[in-house]
Amino acid sequence: MRDFDVVVVGGGCSGLWAARAAAMSGVSTLLIERTARIGEHIVCAEGVGTDGMTDLLELEPEWIATTIHGGKLSAPGEKIVEFTERGCGYVLNKRNFLHGLSRMAGEAGVEMWLGTRATTVRPLDSGGVRIEVEAPGRTRTITAGAVVAADGVESLIARQVGIRDCLRPEELFSCAQYTVTRIDVDPHTVEFHFGREISPGGYAWVFPKGDSVANVGVGVIPGVAGDRKPIEYLETFKQCRCPSSNIISHVVGGVPTVKDPSRASKSGVFLAGDAAGITDPVSGAGIVPGMESGAVAGEYAARYAAKESDGRALEKEFAGSLKSLLKDRRIRYAVRKVLSKMDDKELARMIDATGEYLAGGKTIRGDPFRLVRFLVKVMPNTFGLIKHIVRV
Ligand SMILES: Cc1cc2nc3c(=O)[nH]c(=O)nc-3n(C[C@H](O)[C@H](O)[C@H](O)COP(=O)(O)OP(=O)(O)OC[C@H]3O[C@@H](n4cnc5c(N)ncnc54)[C@H](O)[C@@H]3O)c2cc1C
Repeated sequence: MRDFDVVVVGGGCSGLWAARAAAMSGVSTLLIERTARIGEHIVCAEGVGTDGMTDLLELEPEWIATTIHGGKLSAPGEKIVEFTERGCGYVLNKRNFLHGLSRMAGEAGVEMWLGTRATTVRPLDSGGVRIEVEAPGRTRTITAGAVVAADGVESLIARQVGIRDCLRPEELFSCAQYTVTRIDVDPHTVEFHFGREISPGGYAWVFPKGDSVANVGVGVIPGVAGDRKPIEYLETFKQCRCPSSNIISHVVGGVPTVKDPSRASKSGVFLAGDAAGITDPVSGAGIVPGMESGAVAGEYAARYAAKESDGRALEKEFAGSLKSLLKDRRIRYAVRKVLSKMDDKELARMIDATGEYLAGGKTIRGDPFRLVRFLVKVMPNTFGLIKHIVRV
């Protein structure tokens, strides 16, 4: 007799959305979160695109810090390209957002054990999965029909079950971020800053959370960034962009981007979100992909637990569902690779070309690969390598 049909490990956006999906399939579902409160430790710039997010759910006003109506792309050498796209995104108040998701999970019937850490997850020969958990002052063993591992970038479970080992350096953005006050920002405009000196392989961002508050961060690809740590790049960026701002919090963390994350289950354990390395290879955005993959993992875990069909067949189907969810991944990964290799001159040319593209009345929203196809045409030496993938 098992304790729960599905156990979800991790109460971030992916785990909460996975648990809700499992419970909505009608199976008993437990969510385990190691921190005492949902949203206790947030490592995120909190930006989301409107399109992906509103396909998932309608945002409540208190989950939103600000609505985004445009952006600035800053190239090495001070050139700035500005664009306006009304309502193209949001900067969330992610703590409130996660509280909202946990309320929705609870309403769907998910039981939650907070302040509880999964220490060992082991599939059983007899079927099902054994999970050892630890809460202050006690340990306990529980059994489940299936597990969703949504335990974040360092996923202990992915390693324990043998789905994935360490990430390769090119599969990671290494990030550091300050939340600052007294910064001069437009509260409805996001900023992306490029350049080998600022953020090798990635970009620096300023995501406003109000009139004079913003998340200011830097993401670099470790193999490209040399010996300097992200926090050192961030300090340099802060000195340039907002030297007299005051830091009110700082975080460091990794954004995992696995090249092909579709092999994400084994013996009744299904990965979701950062644990599976499912973030956007170009932007590093992981909230929407995490929730999308969470919904799929929750559904398949529920079907696995209900023994709806042969376990192996379900895992194969799960891989297929992830593949179709990530259908553009090959292009995005190729663009990431090109961006990571560009020198400052090429980056400046790319920002310039993006300005020309936008001046023609086009937007980045909608079909982002239209812009990539344009860049392949105007910068054939830089983007030519991906010509065969984007079919110009
Ligand atoms: C600096 C930075 C900025 C970012 N900015 C953005 C952005 O602007 N927009 C965007 O879309 N994405 C952004 N991302 C990526 C995004 O934050 C993640 O992709 C997303 O939060 C992943 O959600 P998750 O639920 O998969 O993992 P997490 O949010 O990491 O949640 C994992 C949860 O599991 C819990 N946990 C871990 N191990 C255990 C265990 N053994 N037992 C129980 N609980 C456990 C953790 O406490 C945590 O609550 C950013 C990332 C970084 C590092």
